[in-house]
Amino acid sequence: MSSLMNNYGRFPVAFVRGQGSKLWDEAGREYLDFTSGIAVTNLGHAHPKVTAAIQAQAETLLHTSNLYRIPLQEQVATKLAELSGLSKAFFCNSGAEANEAAIKLARKHSQAKHGAHKHEILTLHDSFHGRTLATVTATCKPKFQEGFAPLMPGFRYVEKELAAIEQAIGDATCAVLVEPIQGEGGVHPLGAEFLQGLRKLCDQNGLLLIFDEVQTGIGRTGHMFAFEAAGVLPDIVTLAKGLGNGVPVGAMLAKEEVASAFGPGTHGSTFGGNPLAMAAALAVLTAIEEEGLVQRARAIGEEFEQKLAQLVDKFSCLTGVRGQGLLRGLALNRPAAPLVTKCLERGLLVLTAGENTLRLLPPLNLSAEELDLGMGLLEQALSDLAD
Ligand SMILES: *Cc1c(COP(=O)(O)O)cnc(C)c1O
Repeated sequence: MSSLMNNYGRFPVAFVRGQGSKLWDEAGREYLDFTSGIAVTNLGHAHPKVTAAIQAQAETLLHTSNLYRIPLQEQVATKLAELSGLSKAFFCNSGAEANEAAIKLARKHSQAKHGAHKHEILTLHDSFHGRTLATVTATCKPKFQEGFAPLMPGFRYVEKELAAIEQAIGDATCAVLVEPIQGEGGVHPLGAEFLQGLRKLCDQNGLLLIFDEVQTGIGRTGHMFAFEAAGVLPDIVTLAKGLGNGVPVGAMLAKEEVASAFGPGTHGSTFGGNPLAMAAALAVLTAIEEEGLVQRARAIGEEFEQKLAQLVDKFSCLTGVRGQGLLRGLALNRPAAPLVTKCLERGLLVLTAGENTLRLLPPLNLSAEELDLGMGLLEQALSDLAD
């Protein structure tokens, strides 16, 4: 009997060590990791620069609180501002918390600017924004909401069509919150045209555009941020997963004009942006730059897409490939969970996204040999499935 709560469906395997794209379990068996801990270990496991930064920081100072200046926090904020074009940052510890911050900032800014009635945020079908009460309400998925009523007021779900969004905009609407590529919901890219149309709609109606890049950010799509591919600058961006390569850290970036709604005491976090988390984030951003990992993810992501398309041609249960860079979804004509189990048996870790999509998230520095190895294991698992 485990003393753990039963809120996760877990595979009966425990990993004890990792290196790059490889993991080893308690019995010493090797696995190839095409999950990156759900888009977290984007630089692979035990990346030497991140390890060194964490070690050095642990020996120096872990935590002081946000009552005092944290120079590393200022450094990471500056770096993120340079990379994103959004000049202000707030740090927290997870994706849901980053989205909570974005929801609060959107309300605060809009109510100060347009009046107390402004509070409603539009989110999309198939979205995923987290598991806290506000973010699970923003998430348009009944399965995640069941039994948690009453949900938060102030959210409205819309179809992924510009006309539907335009129609849903009302007096109380203050923002639109979307993932540029919906991850958890099935790896559905919204597309450049849609995101550009959304930007225009928000501008015409005085709404804030919020991109949840918790999964798509930090190089995952072959761009530092997925919004770059669409040529659209949002007002607020949220980040988390890949930012600390496994050290919990989240961030909300915003335009100066929007961020200014947060004055001293309006929002906060005890741990958010502490020296340990910031040392990890700085090492991650520096390593991505030094090792050219955004370009690398784009290049190997294209190869990956071609190889996945070949599998689609070969196996009748596969219906298509979606996604960008190293965030890829392989669509099946049936539930994807049995294929995940077959892959695990073959020594390849993969994920689902929604019911019928296999989600693949290898580290950004995956080698060509590792890609081939992974594709071979995936092909074997698909053959196992057909047997
Ligand atoms: C994972 C995820 C979240 C939630 O992040 P947590 O760190 O689990 O709170 C929010 N939005 C998106 C798009 C995600 O993929």
